[in-house]
Amino acid sequence: MTTIRLRNSKSRKVEEFHPIDPENVQMYVCGPTVYDRAHLGNARPVLVFDVLYRLLRHVYGERHVTYVRNFTDVDDKINAEAQRRKGLGDPRSLEALIAERTEETIAWYHADMDALGALRPDQEPRATAFIGQMIAMIADLIAKGHAYEKEGHVLFRVRSYQNYGALSGRSVDDMIAGARVEVAPFKEDPMDFVLWKPSDEDLPGWDSPWGRGRPGWHIECSAMSYELLGASFDIHGGGIDLQFPHHENEIAQSACAHPEAGFANYWVHNEMLQVEGKKMSKSLGNFFTVRDLLDQGVPGEVIRFVMLGTHYGKPMDWTERKREEAETTLRKWRALVDGAVPAAHPAAELVEALADDLNTAGAIADKFDKKSRAKMIVSGSSLSLT
Ligand SMILES: [Zn+2]
Repeated sequence: MTTIRLRNSKSRKVEEFHPIDPENVQMYVCGPTVYDRAHLGNARPVLVFDVLYRLLRHVYGERHVTYVRNFTDVDDKINAEAQRRKGLGDPRSLEALIAERTEETIAWYHADMDALGALRPDQEPRATAFIGQMIAMIADLIAKGHAYEKEGHVLFRVRSYQNYGALSGRSVDDMIAGARVEVAPFKEDPMDFVLWKPSDEDLPGWDSPWGRGRPGWHIECSAMSYELLGASFDIHGGGIDLQFPHHENEIAQSACAHPEAGFANYWVHNEMLQVEGKKMSKSLGNFFTVRDLLDQGVPGEVIRFVMLGTHYGKPMDWTERKREEAETTLRKWRALVDGAVPAAHPAAELVEALADDLNTAGAIADKFDKKSRAKMIVSGSSLSLT
């Protein structure tokens, strides 16, 4: 059996991957907050973890891998958009407007990521369907002394968890010095983060032991991964921008709620995306969505090919030139394999490259002759990169 090697952010080393149960390999990836179209940067983790998912399925068998990616459908940005529509005179209730926004955004996300050739995860839980489990986990954290209620808020007591900061390799004091931590009168310590916050009448809310309110973002992933995968599972993925504070907070919550378990054994983070050497931002005018590119006639497979041309652990630079080159290369490769019978199994060299810490860039680059690369990459097998 192929041994997969992955860079584990926990140890900061490339390690051999050994699942808890090879019959049921489990991966959780933080999904999108559904308030708007996915921008190009949002596509990177989708494609990186799609390749990992496909590789795991190839090695352990399709029915032996469970991939969970959540939808965050309770968030102040979603509320703001619904309130904006209401302000424009929409007569429907805020709940109805929030539900509409969420539904349309999830449908866009599916359509856009399908166009990039990404398989859908086995489960795509929505945060609003797990509020009861979040409340139960928060109550448990309070009972164990890791959280406290004040003024309708529930906060996680960061100093109660000794290993806080281990994933990103920082101490709590360094983090306080460097981070934009919010000082608030209801916090014992500026590092403490919100598990639950009160909702007034204009906001969505659920009844809880601490009054009507809504969950903080971090508790969503801890509660959903526990419910769907258990207290210990194999891989937790996401963009490097989520490592702190989101992933540190997930670890703190889960480790304190289930001290007997290990939570995620392997943490895999993809680096960020830039556009023409600059951070993508609305103010720089280089911000665009996946849909913008598709609408301009850029095929999904070209976007995928450009993205996978850079190793996930390195910053990825999207450039016009790369897009053009990818279109030309793919056109040539398609012509080279035209008429060939689609491969039943992925090429051994391709599996080998991907098992080496998802070396997509190596597989695409010049290790093999042109025709074998063309065959490997556009062959139509379950592991092809297009
Ligand atoms: Zn998460």
